[in-house]
Amino acid sequence: MARVYNFSAGPAVLPEEVLREAADEMLDYRGCGMSVMEMSHRSKVYDDIIKTAEADLRSLLNIPANYKVMFLQGGASQQFAMIPMNLMKNRVADYIVTGQWAKKAYQEAQIFGKANKIATSEDKTFSYIPDCSDLPISPDADYVYICENNTIYGTKFKTLPNTKGKDLVSDVSSCFLSEPMDISRYAVVYGGVQKNIGPAGVVIVIMREDLITDDVLPGTPTMLKYKTHADADSLYNTPPAYGIYICGKVFKWLKKMGGLEQMKTYNEEKAKILYDFLDESELFKGTVRREDRSLMNVPFITGNEELDAKFVKESKAAGFENLKGHRTVGGMRASIYNAMPIEGVKALVEFMKKFELENK
Ligand SMILES: *Cc1c(COP(=O)(O)O)cnc(C)c1O
Repeated sequence: MARVYNFSAGPAVLPEEVLREAADEMLDYRGCGMSVMEMSHRSKVYDDIIKTAEADLRSLLNIPANYKVMFLQGGASQQFAMIPMNLMKNRVADYIVTGQWAKKAYQEAQIFGKANKIATSEDKTFSYIPDCSDLPISPDADYVYICENNTIYGTKFKTLPNTKGKDLVSDVSSCFLSEPMDISRYAVVYGGVQKNIGPAGVVIVIMREDLITDDVLPGTPTMLKYKTHADADSLYNTPPAYGIYICGKVFKWLKKMGGLEQMKTYNEEKAKILYDFLDESELFKGTVRREDRSLMNVPFITGNEELDAKFVKESKAAGFENLKGHRTVGGMRASIYNAMPIEGVKALVEFMKKFELENK
């Protein structure tokens, strides 16, 4: 068995240790004679799995007691609708559009009310984060929305926008648990787990309790009300049970790794290896403004499309998978999430150096 270095943006690499443990427990979960996939979500055994997962997530992120944690389905994309349906009381919200995912969320919100694009970086192909220190926040905005780490373009908010007292909603899909965050500064933090936490099919929503009410837009289906899920501790209907179980294992792995401070240090160390090389290389260059660079997604180009294609092809043959950039931007992108070992990044840079020598 040979595992490749998988630089996919999502679904993405998971800790090998977690996969091995799941394999060991596949046929018989801790003596109960069945797989987690086969057990009732109402069983005592499963209740323990989901409660432990929530407790571990709470301790990793230091989630304040007045925030609910929900394990939902529908991917991050379903949140683009759930957020306005539940939170757009005045039918006004402000969106900062820093990439495709933020743009999709912004467009979806327009179905439900007046969504204002108060800042964007589209003029330079989303290669930077706009100055958000003094934006024209709407006086009647129900919330301000950001996508904190832009998976496709490789930018990250290093400081949160000044929302002038409005609630902040953040899509953290591709930077979830990559470093500590102060949950109390947000009203809602959510993310699909297939980027940095677990298998596709689970989305985690962390929401301040006072926002979870029956006061939602008329016509909001039961399944799309946060209150439905919060009241039932994510067990209103059958949850993505196996996916949550794997997320729980990743939380344990993160705790064992030393928690999010440690992950941040490790991720900074990994990203530095790649960015330092991009800065000194005569062939490859990063596409993002230096101060806005993501620790998780690193896009780069040679400036020559044929050479880019050659690089993607040869890197694949050498055991580096999924380095092709997003179909809308081209070039290359290395996603170096929590579970990407530092050896993978070092090996990639060695390969890039060799490619550069051969293609000068
Ligand atoms: C991948 C991604 C999404 C979309 O996730 P789905 O689960 O496929 O709906 C949304 N936002 C960000 C930041 C992403 O990286």
